Amino acid sequence: MTSEKMLVENVCRVLRQLAPLPTAESWDNVGFLLGRPDRTVSRLMTCLTLTPTVAREAIAKNVQMIVTHHPVLFRATKSITSDTIEGRLLLDLIEARIAVYSPHTAFDNAEWGINQWLAESLGLQTIVPLRSFPLGIPGGAGRMGQFAESLSKQQFLEKLGTIVGAEYLEVAWHGSEDVRRVGLACGSAADYLADALQAECDTFVTGEARFHSAVECQSRECNLVLTGHFWSERPAVVRLAHVLSERLFGVDCFASDEDRNPLELFQI
Ligand SMILES: [Zn+2]
Repeated sequence: MTSEKMLVENVCRVLRQLAPLPTAESWDNVGFLLGRPDRTVSRLMTCLTLTPTVAREAIAKNVQMIVTHHPVLFRATKSITSDTIEGRLLLDLIEARIAVYSPHTAFDNAEWGINQWLAESLGLQTIVPLRSFPLGIPGGAGRMGQFAESLSKQQFLEKLGTIVGAEYLEVAWHGSEDVRRVGLACGSAADYLADALQAECDTFVTGEARFHSAVECQSRECNLVLTGHFWSERPAVVRLAHVLSERLFGVDCFASDEDRNPLELFQI
C-alpha cells in the first residue's frame, strides 16, 4: 500500500490482525473509537494513555491517527461537550480530524502482544497463557514460563527492571529465594495471581496491585513484583510504533513523547 492510499480503515485492519478484537476482555472498549474510516493517514502516533497533553502533542505533530493502548470513551457517554475534560479532548481531536483506535486488552493478550513480549524478553521458556480464552477463541490471557536455569532474586529483578525501563520495583518476596517459574500479566492484573499460584509459579509479575495481594503472597509463600502500571505497558507502545512502521508502508509511525508516568517516587 502506498502512503497516498493508506486510509484509517487500512490501519484498523492491520491493528485487528495484530491484536484480534475477540480476544479483548468482555468489559473492555476496544477497536476503532473515533473518526472516519475513509480519511488518509500519513502520520500516526502511539501512546499508552490519551491525555489532553498527548492530544495536544498529536495536533502539534500533525498526526491523522492515534493508537492509544488505554481506550477513550471507556465509560458510557451521553454527551460530548466542552464541559468535561474528555469532551474537550474528543472535540479537539475531531476538529483536528484525528482518528483514534485502541487495542487495549486485545494487545495485552495477542500472540505477539505485551505479555508474550515480556515473557520472551525475560528469557522464559515453554511460554503459555495463564488463563485460556473461552471455548472457540485460541490463545489466552497473561503468560507463564520457566527459566532453563534459576535466577537469583537480584538477577531477576535487575533483568525485569531493565526490560521495562522502570525506575524502581515494588517487591513482596515471600517465596523461594531463586526464580524459576514466572507468571505475568501487564497493567493492573492482580486477579491473575490466583492463576499463577494454581500453576505453581514461584513469582508473579504485574504492573500494580492492592496491599491485599501482597498479603496473600505472604501467606501463600509466593513472590510478587510490581513494575508500576505505566512501565509494564509503555515499552510495548514504543514497540507497537515500530511494528506499525513496518506494516504501514509510507506512514510515519512514532510513539508519543508526552506520554509520561503520572506517578513518581518521592524519596523521604
Ligand atoms: Zn494499562
